[in-house]
Amino acid sequence: MRFVCVACNRTFSGRTLPYRCSCGGPLDCENTVKQVRLSGAFRHARYMPLLPVRKLVTLGEGGTPLLRLERLEKAFQLPFKLYAKNEAVNPTGSFKDRGSSVEVAAAVTHHAKRAAVASTGNMGASLAAYSGKAGIPLTVYTPKDAAPTKLEQILAYGAHVVRVRQVYSEVIAGVEALCKEKKVYLLGDYVFRREGTKTVGCEIAEQLGRAPDTVVVPIGNGLLFSGVWKAFTEFKKLKWIRNLPRMVGVQATGCKPVVNALRSGRWNRVERPKTVAMAIECDLPMDGLLVLQAIRASRGTALSVGDREILRAVDLLAQHEGLFAEPAGAAALAGILKDPSQYRRGSTVVCVVSGHGLKAPHHDPHHRMTERATVL
Ligand SMILES: [Zn+2]
Repeated sequence: MRFVCVACNRTFSGRTLPYRCSCGGPLDCENTVKQVRLSGAFRHARYMPLLPVRKLVTLGEGGTPLLRLERLEKAFQLPFKLYAKNEAVNPTGSFKDRGSSVEVAAAVTHHAKRAAVASTGNMGASLAAYSGKAGIPLTVYTPKDAAPTKLEQILAYGAHVVRVRQVYSEVIAGVEALCKEKKVYLLGDYVFRREGTKTVGCEIAEQLGRAPDTVVVPIGNGLLFSGVWKAFTEFKKLKWIRNLPRMVGVQATGCKPVVNALRSGRWNRVERPKTVAMAIECDLPMDGLLVLQAIRASRGTALSVGDREILRAVDLLAQHEGLFAEPAGAAALAGILKDPSQYRRGSTVVCVVSGHGLKAPHHDPHHRMTERATVL
């Protein structure tokens, strides 16, 4: 394994790894493995030979179902096969557990005494569980509008929560500076997490026996998107699959920096991000560079969906398919339904359901979930 800056190609050794290159670019882990064998049960740990740690901190993450959404196919007369990769069933209810299991394992190797992370909620909850399991005290810094249920979840695992009156990218910058100054181990959407996250893509490839034609992924910081793409490129290098999928990213209309950058070629911070899908409310995505590279390399695209479309997708997944997703988790489906004509007839389309609906049940006061119940 070799670590390389995505922006300037500078290389780093694993021992003295910074979280970011001095040029500001994100680091990537280059897998130099030529021949490996996967073994063991169908779950995250099966992909150890492709991960940059020797041992995982594990709560049994991964091995999530890939479900055919036949009732939605019928209801919308979709001419393609639609699947959902249900990441909601991970130990803390989101895909973040895959990254946490690798990232916290790396923290243990680096003898971290205490750690901190900036999170809109899911990553904080996941890291609270995994760092608790590893015995590393954690502080989670959240933007002030983080979902109360997620804060409760973080606190339940015994982590400390600090709510900051800033947008997400400012919270990240603040925590990076603080960790440097106080010598606290920094966790978050960095190189080790991307490696852990990529097993979403590994599993999809194994479940289908090949890469799907299209993978549709919600984009917040972009690490799920870049990780999934990376998995397919590594599987192709290893000659385990023949083709690569087309990558489609979905953002919320109220926060769509990737969609904007794809159009204008420039990265601009979203000034007042606002969406019901708070887990993808990232005003300046940390993995933006890799996301654009993946979109271009796969001839994919990125599009945005409004809050109403997202909430409708939450209802559709729950009521047609028995999948209760949080708004960000349903965003990919909303993106597919917005323009189903762009998917080839007879092709295979996978949307990633990134997080559980129980994580953000009060996502919209106007949605009035509980008013649907009958009171006797
Ligand atoms: Zn660099």
